[in-house]
Amino acid sequence: MKPRPGFPARLPSSAPAPTARGKAAVVAAHPTARESKAPVLKPKAVHVPDRRVAPTGLGMESQAVRASMVRKIQAQGVTHAGVLAALQAVERHRFVDTALVNQAYEDTSLPIGLGQTISKPGVVARMLELLCQGRAEKLGRVLEIGTGCGYQAALMSHLAREVYTIERLKGLHEKARDNLRWFRLPNVHLLFGDGMLGYAKGAPYAGIIAAAGGNDIPAAWIDQLAVGGRLVAPAVTAAGRQNLVVVDKTATGIVRTELEPVLFVPLKSGVA
Ligand code: SAH
Repeated sequence: MKPRPGFPARLPSSAPAPTARGKAAVVAAHPTARESKAPVLKPKAVHVPDRRVAPTGLGMESQAVRASMVRKIQAQGVTHAGVLAALQAVERHRFVDTALVNQAYEDTSLPIGLGQTISKPGVVARMLELLCQGRAEKLGRVLEIGTGCGYQAALMSHLAREVYTIERLKGLHEKARDNLRWFRLPNVHLLFGDGMLGYAKGAPYAGIIAAAGGNDIPAAWIDQLAVGGRLVAPAVTAAGRQNLVVVDKTATGIVRTELEPVLFVPLKSGVA
């Protein structure tokens, strides 16, 4: 496979887009002091207590539980060192509700509210490996459609220089912002809007990944992909089932590859 180019991490400076319906608005995962309304005298770190603690049921530290999850994912065939390192680094238990913490490192999707789920780690790993295939170095700018609880965005923050992630449900967009605050990831940009339109202001993207599946791949995503870039998304194929689809944008055109069947929540238009 031809090496895919990187992209500058810096974006042309632009004011955040309005929050109007259908338009995405950039919200930094971690507002800077300048943006916050906190008193300026005696700045003090705000500590938000997090009731979610590492799983203790297995008698292991969360680090060790994660290592075991990573070994299982390796056994499924994932080999990309950067993806495995990200899975080891990001504490998945911080993205699920207290009652589900003990299942956080099982290879299963879990409810995150509003009828949506955090994707199975094995599938997330597979998709990220496809996104990074043939690339040992970090990707440039990437776009995720379907922020959900923010877990995959946190993983991508280790694999790309800038991560743009869009969510159409306000409640989940806010939940992701709360979840990600703890991690302090300045290269993750949370957007509220309809991801079917992509996010033109950040384009072109070295990689685009969707966590929700539609009948087809929206044209905007392909338009916003850089030449040499790759898109990984679930989509309904001619056989009428949802499969992982990889789209490579090459200098000579689009190459679409259909892979194994998957089961993702539906891609919906508009915001709610
Ligand atoms: N990556 C997420 C997975 C969330 S599930 C995680 O790590 O938790 C997929 C998400 O896609 C849902 O939250 C759903 O609301 C969202 N979604 C569906 N259609 C969308 C659209 N058009 N634009 C943005 N988000 C969308």
